[in-house]
Amino acid sequence: MSTISPDLVRKVIQDVIQEVIGKGQAPAVATDGIFEDMDAAVNAADKAWRQYMDCSMADRARFIQAIRDLASSDENAEYMAKATVEETGMGRVEDKILKNKIAALQTPGIEDLPTEAWSGDEGLTTIELSPFGVIGAITPTTNPTETVINNSIGMLAAGNAVVFSPHPRATKITHWLIRKINAALTAAGAPANLVVTVAKPSIDNTNAMMEHPAVRMLVATGGPSIVKAVLSSGKKAIGAGAGNPPVVVDQTADLVRAARDIVDGASFDNNLPCTAEKEVLAVECVVDLLKFEMLKNGAFELKDQAKIAELAAMVAKDGHAVTKWVGKDVAQFLDALGIEAPKGTRLIIAEVPFEHPFVQTELMMPILGIVRVKNTDEAIELAVKAEHGNRHTAIMHSADVNALTKMAKRIQTTIFVKNGPSYAGIGIGGEGFNTFTIAGPTGEGLTSARCYARRRRCALVGGMNVR
Ligand code: NAD
Repeated sequence: MSTISPDLVRKVIQDVIQEVIGKGQAPAVATDGIFEDMDAAVNAADKAWRQYMDCSMADRARFIQAIRDLASSDENAEYMAKATVEETGMGRVEDKILKNKIAALQTPGIEDLPTEAWSGDEGLTTIELSPFGVIGAITPTTNPTETVINNSIGMLAAGNAVVFSPHPRATKITHWLIRKINAALTAAGAPANLVVTVAKPSIDNTNAMMEHPAVRMLVATGGPSIVKAVLSSGKKAIGAGAGNPPVVVDQTADLVRAARDIVDGASFDNNLPCTAEKEVLAVECVVDLLKFEMLKNGAFELKDQAKIAELAAMVAKDGHAVTKWVGKDVAQFLDALGIEAPKGTRLIIAEVPFEHPFVQTELMMPILGIVRVKNTDEAIELAVKAEHGNRHTAIMHSADVNALTKMAKRIQTTIFVKNGPSYAGIGIGGEGFNTFTIAGPTGEGLTSARCYARRRRCALVGGMNVR
């Protein structure tokens, strides 16, 4: 009897994989979470969720740990960062490594699901945080892997399965991550396909996901159009939308620290985070010293009005950022302007009027407009206007508690960072947990497992009162 050599088996498997990849097709019955069509993806997630219901809280904790371990390993965090920059053409590898690790390690897990209880003569009543079922999550190009890690941990911790609809420009890296998550979950004993997506993400597929009856909740992390779409879906939805975070600097601020923090925050991942400093409103008596200190920390000041106008025309059009420039390295902007900047430059700054695109437009580029204002009141008033009612993030550098309080009350943002870089507000160098889905419009704020859960009440009558 002839035997088949291991080499032959390996070759046959490789050929089949090559054929499937070559055709850009996913197998009809996937176990790695990637499906040919949205219907198959949602049905697989629904089946997985029903099996997941039989798992214990200890099981959930183990599965979450498996995701944390895979996404926080040096090798994987670095791979994701490099592959994302390569595929999307945006951001900075070293910052993305940090963002992936923070998402893996600082997103809350099952401990985020406290039970409420009432006990008395009539018995014991509890409210427990229970899953929705299958959640449809739409993720952005700006934080593609961070959002998948963060949402997977939070949604699975609350007992759900999740169907991701990634941005088409981040398909490859999202597929890589979803495959890895499925492999880690099944190795830890979880049902297959708790985290799924489709082979070819598209607006049509996202619409199919939103309409699928088995999808019980929608979570959109992205710009205004997708937030509006989920809020119009007729389903329970969380909308984490755009921001345009202003920074106010008053005459009481520690300018050395403020300058360093603003440059660090505004240049972090080339300004891609929705939370990153997007414009500065500074009282006139501090502007010169603030800029001087910023230059020491990696900022380059553009002073030539013609160059400022050229850059503005290049990066913003009709109130929107020009996509091909979003998240690019500072050197590319300077090259295009024919400017040679000092080595280590991370951010372009320019003094501009309040109406300028460097202030009004959510550029998501390492370019920061600075507006000179008369006093703190004017700075706060203009910061509120520049934030455009997004209620997302604002930053203030001040030692005046009354001014900080006034700004916080007026601007009503979900995140308000006092005397630190913007990323302190998402748990990077600041206290508190991490999230990459900040839901201003729908009010959940910094989302975590408890936001992906339903409040369910059980009343046990006439017993279990031991007082
Ligand atoms: P985007 O709005 O272009 O895309 C976000 C996601 O929505 C993508 O998956 C995209 O394919 C999908 N999408 C967009 N419009 C759609 C439509 N009409 N129908 C179906 N799907 C649609 O945003 P982006 O460029 O990927 O990300 C940047 C934007 O997201 C910025 O405005 C930023 O402020 C915001 N953002 C917000 C948060 C937050 O937590 N609030 C986090 C990250 C990014």
